[in-house]
Amino acid sequence: MTQFLKLLFRNRLAGFGAVVLSVILLLVLLTPILPLQNPDTTATADRFLKPFTPGHPLGTDHLGRDLLSRLLWGTRLSLAVGISAALIAATIGSAIGIVAGYFGGRTDNVIMRGVDMLMAFPYILLALAIVAALGPGLMNALIAVAAVNVPFFARNIRGVTVSLAGREFIDAARLAGMGHARIILTELLPNVLPVIVIAMSTTVGWMILETAGLSFLGLGSQPPQADLGSMLGEARSALITHPHTSVVPGLMIFLIVMSINLLGDGVRDALDPRLRSGALSRPRATTLVERQGEIPPASDDLLAIQDLHTQFHVGKRIYRAVGGVSLAVKPGECLGVIGESGSGKSVTALSVMGLVASPPGVITGGAVRFQGEDLVGAPYETLRQKRGDRVAYIFQDPLSTLHPLYRVGEQLAEAIQSHHKISSKDARTRAIALLKDVRIPNAESRIDNYPHEMSGGMRQRVGIAMALANEPDVIIADEPTTALDVTVQAQILSLLDDLRRDRGLAIVFITHDFGVVAQLCDRVAVMYAGRIVEEGPTGAVLDAPAHPYTKRLIACVPELGGGRRELAAIPGLPPVVDDLPPGCAFAPRCDKARDDCRAGDIPLDGTAPRAVRCLYAEEAV
Ligand code: ADP
Ligand code: MG
Repeated sequence: MTQFLKLLFRNRLAGFGAVVLSVILLLVLLTPILPLQNPDTTATADRFLKPFTPGHPLGTDHLGRDLLSRLLWGTRLSLAVGISAALIAATIGSAIGIVAGYFGGRTDNVIMRGVDMLMAFPYILLALAIVAALGPGLMNALIAVAAVNVPFFARNIRGVTVSLAGREFIDAARLAGMGHARIILTELLPNVLPVIVIAMSTTVGWMILETAGLSFLGLGSQPPQADLGSMLGEARSALITHPHTSVVPGLMIFLIVMSINLLGDGVRDALDPRLRSGALSRPRATTLVERQGEIPPASDDLLAIQDLHTQFHVGKRIYRAVGGVSLAVKPGECLGVIGESGSGKSVTALSVMGLVASPPGVITGGAVRFQGEDLVGAPYETLRQKRGDRVAYIFQDPLSTLHPLYRVGEQLAEAIQSHHKISSKDARTRAIALLKDVRIPNAESRIDNYPHEMSGGMRQRVGIAMALANEPDVIIADEPTTALDVTVQAQILSLLDDLRRDRGLAIVFITHDFGVVAQLCDRVAVMYAGRIVEEGPTGAVLDAPAHPYTKRLIACVPELGGGRRELAAIPGLPPVVDDLPPGCAFAPRCDKARDDCRAGDIPLDGTAPRAVRCLYAEEAV
């Protein structure tokens, strides 16, 4: 709730609307106890007094009635009627929508055709027809306004319900033996409620206007009872001679509707889950850089990550996702980065090209050098030219990285054409060649497939083809085979291996699987809680792991044909990076930890190429 209010007030206009509306609401709630004159007392001698007349701060109307008093009582009535109409329309409309959407089929058809018939009439005409049939009066105006808004809610909520009703959690509720009523109330309703609230907050203003409109025409509130619409209606004949009688209620209607709409928009934004996590601010094109400390000197590696610090600043909390990581690759080399999930591998990889979302991501230190050039804090255009061209990424889930509505060929061509000026025909030829390179059979026909027409392994090959499209120097692969089965994984790994030998590609391969590292990588770096705890040539690290964490990780890999043995799971959980313990982050889970492990900074030590961050490392280093 506090988070909702915070988000709401971050939007200045919504905050303004909320303040104006609260003042109006407070005034109308206090109206009965304010020292006001009777709104209906006429005094023909005091007709059309100007505002600021003593005793009549807003003047009087054509019957000498006090305008301030009529305005407040009228606003009270208009708001009550408008809000009641909105509540009634939302309740009935949503109930209809949920029932139609949930039961579907025939029920849906009958209900929605009825709703369509209502929608076929212009709704002001419909409201007029309803009031004409029921007879003029405020209650009937309320019924008419509610009735003409029911279809709007019914349609909206039905749409949301239809998409929810097919989801797995509804099936699960059915499997659990829940009845329809229970599913609707406990599973569906909480999920559609935000949509109902949003629809209501954006239509309440309309309904107040519609009620005022009916009263203006004399079909709503009946004299002498004042509401905003009837006040306007009565003032109409004196519009030119005594404009203040129309301006006063007119201004009030304007304020109410404007503040409700501004607030409604704000509520919609704050309730939208997609906007909520992104905190309503547009992400920047590159990660924010606030570098402290010295910038490390240039190196001659192809890609060098030097003492990189990347943090997430969420409110007052600081998540140190990457806390001083240094890695380097040469052409044709494959570097493995391994660690449990949450150890900061992806954030490290994304920081290279400034792809960590900001806010909340901030690069607070270090450098990333590509061919000697520092990319941290480089202008957007420099990074854009290198992204996908010189440094390419392969991500874990190819279904979410490929656009579902474009054919894979078009997406490949786009990847090429965004960096090189070549004709569409040439791009297509090149795309076919790329698909052949990644060993997709029938590349000529496969190129016209949509992503959903391909299997997971095929899609991942397309992902690799896309990464290769511009013959990059470095490929950063973030768990590219985690979602695949082992046979496809083996094919993809051998494909990457061939590519780096043939083309001299440098590969940074992120994984949590030592088996994969053993197959593909020349060197490996082990990450834990945002830092490197051990690195060295793959063979050496596998044969003689020096850090207790590395040892435990290797012990977790099951051995085929090794007989049955107990798998050594690592006890405890990875630490939360906004509150790291002093000293070694692994100490709480380590059986060798002593008191000095829990104090001070422990350096990454050793003779190149081996290094380990442990006070009691195994002898190998
Ligand atoms: P992995 O090694 O599994 O790829 P990540 O690099 O994705 O791990 O995440 C590293 C750490 O950064 C995790 O502890 C995660 O909780 C944190 N983190 C990632 N994204 C955010 C974010 N947007 N806000 C706060 N913390 C984040
Ligand atoms: Mg990851």
